[in-house]
Amino acid sequence: MSRFLSEKHKDLVPYTPGEQPKILNLIKLNTNESPYPPAPQVVAAAEEEAGRLHLYPDPTCSALCEAFAARVGVEPEEVIAVNGSDEILNFAFMAYCDGKTPALFPDITYGFYSVFAQLNGVPYEEIPLTASLEVNPQDYKNVGKTVFLANPNAPTGIALPLEVIEEIVASNPDNIVVIDEAYVDFGGESCVALIHKYENLLVTQTFSKSRSLAGGRLGFGIGCKALIQDLNTLRYSTNPYNINRMTMAAGVATLRFDEITARNCRNIRETRQKTGEALKNLGFEMTDSSANFLFVKHPKADGKLIYEKLRERNVLVRHFDKPRICQYNRITVGTEEQMEILIQSLKEILEEIL
Ligand SMILES: *Cc1c(COP(=O)(O)O)cnc(C)c1O
Repeated sequence: MSRFLSEKHKDLVPYTPGEQPKILNLIKLNTNESPYPPAPQVVAAAEEEAGRLHLYPDPTCSALCEAFAARVGVEPEEVIAVNGSDEILNFAFMAYCDGKTPALFPDITYGFYSVFAQLNGVPYEEIPLTASLEVNPQDYKNVGKTVFLANPNAPTGIALPLEVIEEIVASNPDNIVVIDEAYVDFGGESCVALIHKYENLLVTQTFSKSRSLAGGRLGFGIGCKALIQDLNTLRYSTNPYNINRMTMAAGVATLRFDEITARNCRNIRETRQKTGEALKNLGFEMTDSSANFLFVKHPKADGKLIYEKLRERNVLVRHFDKPRICQYNRITVGTEEQMEILIQSLKEILEEIL
């Protein structure tokens, strides 16, 4: 740290992204990307746009917002395109939390929420998940705080049903409820339609997971027009050109060929099911995941040791050094072939250490 850094950021502990290793031939199951590359039509659209990189992109993102709005069944004025959904989450902390209105989220959830709270100087409260790592909906009703819930949650993958989300939103009419639907396409129920009923609901989605564009950085916020106006005020006050030309073109093309997304999601759910069974046969226990990852532990083998032994075999998963979940590993659902290598590696590791 230099001696010039503002007092207000001296204690900021940044988010630690999952490792993005440079080693080739690594089976990368640590950051929940899609194992399927973007469709050729999407790559072609981005390539074509590369020839216009000397010009600023459209700050209104109109073509992209229209296509996305049509896809999720809302008006273009009810969506905002952002540079990865991390950006909209930051805007939500900026816009809807302060000393009077703290943020509220589970103790075990997406690690960025507490970082954004700190960055924006916002007080926050973390509510412990239950012993079975579930959200207790009662904890989020009528709370007088800005609620942040990932649904399905990360890293557990456990989803809340739509009725429960609606109850939480309805019980907090004077506070914003942010529902982070990063993993919704893998088996959750989206609450987007509720934005027409509740002016306090903001939904966030991303193209990083189900739509194979993690490297393009594209996400969306969906809410009533007044909320989207607030968020656009912040966007135009930070970076009006937040979506670059190639990503914008790739996003539009992805939505045009969205049956590919649906097929990829079906494959991932099938592979999740099969992999879960194979892991259970090896003695692993896991949460009931509706996401593109499995959150697993073995009653007889240490979580960190399994992580390290997998890494020695060039299989990279995510381990969190947090007290309640340090026995677990989060494993992204990859291709069938990747999962076969994972299972074979775990079999060998268990034979070695048990
Ligand atoms: C991956 C993820 C995001 C954001 O991803 P972006 O790449 O910034 O769109 C947001 N929330 C959760 C829970 C995630 O896992």
